[in-house]
Amino acid sequence: MLAIRAAHCYDGGSFRPDGVTVLVEGERIAGVEAVGYDVPEGVEVTSYDGTLLPGLIDAHVHLVAEGIRPGAPGSLEAAGALGDDGLDAAIARSLATNAAAGVTTVRDLGDRRYRTLVARDRRTTGEPRIVAAGPPLTVPEGHCHYLGGEVEGVEGVRAGVRDHVERGVDVVKVMASGGLLTLGTDIFGVQFSPEELRAAVEETHRAGLRIIAHCQSEAGARHAVAAGVDGLEHATLLSPEGIAVPDDLISEIAARDITVDPTLGMDLSRAIPIEQMPAHVQEMVQRLGLTPAQIAVGRARQLARMIEHGVRIVTGSDAGVTPPKRHGNVWRAVVQLLDAGLTPAQALATATSLAADECGLTDTTGRIAEGLNADLLVVDGDLSADLTALAHPRQLWVRGTLLPGQRRTA
Ligand SMILES: [Zn+2]
Repeated sequence: MLAIRAAHCYDGGSFRPDGVTVLVEGERIAGVEAVGYDVPEGVEVTSYDGTLLPGLIDAHVHLVAEGIRPGAPGSLEAAGALGDDGLDAAIARSLATNAAAGVTTVRDLGDRRYRTLVARDRRTTGEPRIVAAGPPLTVPEGHCHYLGGEVEGVEGVRAGVRDHVERGVDVVKVMASGGLLTLGTDIFGVQFSPEELRAAVEETHRAGLRIIAHCQSEAGARHAVAAGVDGLEHATLLSPEGIAVPDDLISEIAARDITVDPTLGMDLSRAIPIEQMPAHVQEMVQRLGLTPAQIAVGRARQLARMIEHGVRIVTGSDAGVTPPKRHGNVWRAVVQLLDAGLTPAQALATATSLAADECGLTDTTGRIAEGLNADLLVVDGDLSADLTALAHPRQLWVRGTLLPGQRRTA
């Protein structure tokens, strides 16, 4: 048994202003006590003047890619051409970067050759837990087709879902619109017919799993909501006029209890000048006609409306897709939720308790509570006063195992 004492604490739901003493036995939390708790004799106590909180959950990563510019080695497209050894090496590096950023669970929503499932099943001590979707289902030549998830027709879609289920995925991901980074796809349009998308939902639910949809467009979100998906990734709601805030759609998302992961968390210091982007991305950015600052303002407005409507928000960073989206940026996505009007405690819940619920891990992680896995993070400073303290992990325990000191440098 060991005891971790911290002057400040966030327990997955709220701040405990007086701090906490957490008892850890093996892989689990054995007790949650007051800061002044008199620990039993022989129990080693480690004290911190920072904030103790649950290890972070990034609900949208791509472990097979590390965030190198589109088309270059290390990018998501390039992962399409890698063999098992190359994929496994990328996955190991991405996991290490996540752990260094205080992440103890990742939900992978875009795999190649099911290698994240292999990594999930042989999870080594100290590695973040993986929740895996396998290669996303997409239409022929559709968004992220290079990851190998192309399916066509109602029967083809059903067979694709069944194949994923047989291979042991935890969740199914389907591409309901095009994406910025895939040549020839339409970020304003939809992918799949309504019948195909409904078949994917039916087949996934029959297996007892959740199905979540990538959608950049408003049309794609309407398409996915009508088909009955459980979650929306990005949900940027792009229309040719810009970033939409459609009250009817947002109230339907809330009414159907659909989770939204807005995938914020852009590190603009790593943005690539537009003239260095691939031609098809340049064209799409020009067609969009919005600056990054305008996008940030539009999305904060949109998210504020979703929160007013009571939509459940979780935080994924879409890690691995581009240089501003390297792994380990999930803290930025949490901090950016303040712009949409969330309190620091609400913003933190999107990357801890609510994300655990979304991943089916309510009884495993995401909260500081007796009986759960000891996935614990200490950051410098008082998080309730300054959420950017999340950028400074001091210590991380993954299922009770303390990782060596890995203070971030950037
Ligand atoms: Zn993604």
